Amino acid sequence: MSSNAELAKIFYDMAAVLELTGANAFRVNAHAKAARVLKDLTTDVSTLVDDPKQLTAIDGIGKGTAERIIEYVETGTIADHRQLMAKVPTGLFDLMQIPGLGPRTIKTMWEQAGVTNMTTLRAALDAGTLEDLPRLGPKLLENIKASMDFVAKSSGRTRIGTALPLAEAIITQLKQVKGLKQIEYAGSLRRGAETIGDIDILASTTQPKQLSEAFRTMPGVTDVLGSGETKSSVRLDAGIQVDLRIVDDPAFGAALLYFTGSKQHNVRLRERAIRMKHRLNEYGLFPNDGDSKTPPQARGVNAVAAKTEKDIFKALKLPWIAPELREDRGEISAADDGVLPKLIEESQIKSELHAHTIASDGNFTIEALIEQAKSRGFHTIAVTDHSKSSAQANGLSVDRLLEHIDAIHEAGSKVKGITILAGSEVDIHADGSLDYEDDVLAKLDIVVASPHASLQQEPAKATKRLVAAISHPLVHILGHPTGRIINRREGLSPDIDALIAAAVEHDTALEINANFMRLDLRDTHVRAAVKAGSLLAINTDAHTASDFDSLHYGILTARRGWLEANQCVNTWSASKLSKWLKRKR
Ligand SMILES: [Zn+2]
Ligand SMILES: [Zn+2]
Repeated sequence: MSSNAELAKIFYDMAAVLELTGANAFRVNAHAKAARVLKDLTTDVSTLVDDPKQLTAIDGIGKGTAERIIEYVETGTIADHRQLMAKVPTGLFDLMQIPGLGPRTIKTMWEQAGVTNMTTLRAALDAGTLEDLPRLGPKLLENIKASMDFVAKSSGRTRIGTALPLAEAIITQLKQVKGLKQIEYAGSLRRGAETIGDIDILASTTQPKQLSEAFRTMPGVTDVLGSGETKSSVRLDAGIQVDLRIVDDPAFGAALLYFTGSKQHNVRLRERAIRMKHRLNEYGLFPNDGDSKTPPQARGVNAVAAKTEKDIFKALKLPWIAPELREDRGEISAADDGVLPKLIEESQIKSELHAHTIASDGNFTIEALIEQAKSRGFHTIAVTDHSKSSAQANGLSVDRLLEHIDAIHEAGSKVKGITILAGSEVDIHADGSLDYEDDVLAKLDIVVASPHASLQQEPAKATKRLVAAISHPLVHILGHPTGRIINRREGLSPDIDALIAAAVEHDTALEINANFMRLDLRDTHVRAAVKAGSLLAINTDAHTASDFDSLHYGILTARRGWLEANQCVNTWSASKLSKWLKRKR
């Protein structure tokens, strides 16, 4: 970790302890803000400590914070932090990850029922000892149980937004090793899946020993789990396992195809090969000479195709199939019939329609957001801060919203070459009503309606709620439709087909929220929406500059759902987009 990241974690932890020990909100917020600022800072903070003024010039870093940063850079530790951490059991930090469980409730459970970690919480829930505590109604206890079950079920898989940067960093590093010829990541990561088991990396090289050695001794490796001539496995400090396989360069394509999978896709390809009197394995596509005992490569039989994936697909009389499609969801027959989708690409996205500023819980001023959108080459950016019910996100009252609309239009009038939309991410209440009255919504250029609370509602109610929002004449986009957080919160389970039908009927777009914690809609839901002809939006829900980079994950999810550019409103020209928005005004 860089010192910025380490410091950010220290300040997050301090904010958490302060909250758990009942410190005043101002102190808690100041620490949390410092953490966010440090995390997003692009300069290494250790280069700024010589002159404390440089530190305090950064918005969100006061004198006290600056002193602690200097203390950290000079001594490697912060005394305040150590003292605070000693005040609470570390297991309480895990409990803060459980949705619906805030610090005040955790504090009560800790002080009055001896809950100090997941294990003691589970035991207290089972024994029923929490039922008489203040604020812990039966509904909340039930929700906590469900959340714990969900987290336990999904553990062991890493979100793609964590795995992909790690894989890319490893590849960049191994590319420096002498003798390297080809290197790629494979597996579910290459297929763009939302979570990844292990990271699989394939390489070909003239110096296998050197490459394996470099792999096992990379920074971040905590354990070497195995090391053979062609395969090495390590565990990283991020907790994820990485396998490196060294394969023959002339058969790189065959190995890449095999290890990218999915298993079911590979089964279908092998069946096709057999029907064509061939045999397909990780070493190549071979003629089937009837000898099933010894594999063909072991008998020195020459492969029909092996060098590239394209060669193998071609020999199987198929066009190359994009990795995101290789899930045995009809891609081989589509390829056979020449009707594979022309999948959407990141470069086709021309607008961002869901973003936050400091008016609610974002880090941007309106001007900074516009600047960022311009630098990404977008022709349109929508400012969609939270509505009044999202109190924890500093949602805007009607008065503040009306002022904000003026400020957005004012800022927009000063820039050329980009359209600025005054919008809102308006809460959808549990009953399907929206958080602003219609006369207020009508003043906005764009309305994204999203569910944020009551996310453990039963499916039938959730369907009714979301269909009501989609059908609302002033709503353009349904934001993160289920509200799920991958590996953490299941979110709503509405009847997706009903949402899609309503979206088609009312010309409303369903969002693929590109934040890798959300990816909501998910791939299979996108596929259903694509089939039914619904419009989709791919938004990053940006709160900070780096969030714009998460567009990539939204695109991968869209591609896994077979989405083509024309069905995604963010690819449209400015005039086409504007026409669509105005139809609902
Ligand atoms: Zn939201
Ligand atoms: Zn948002």
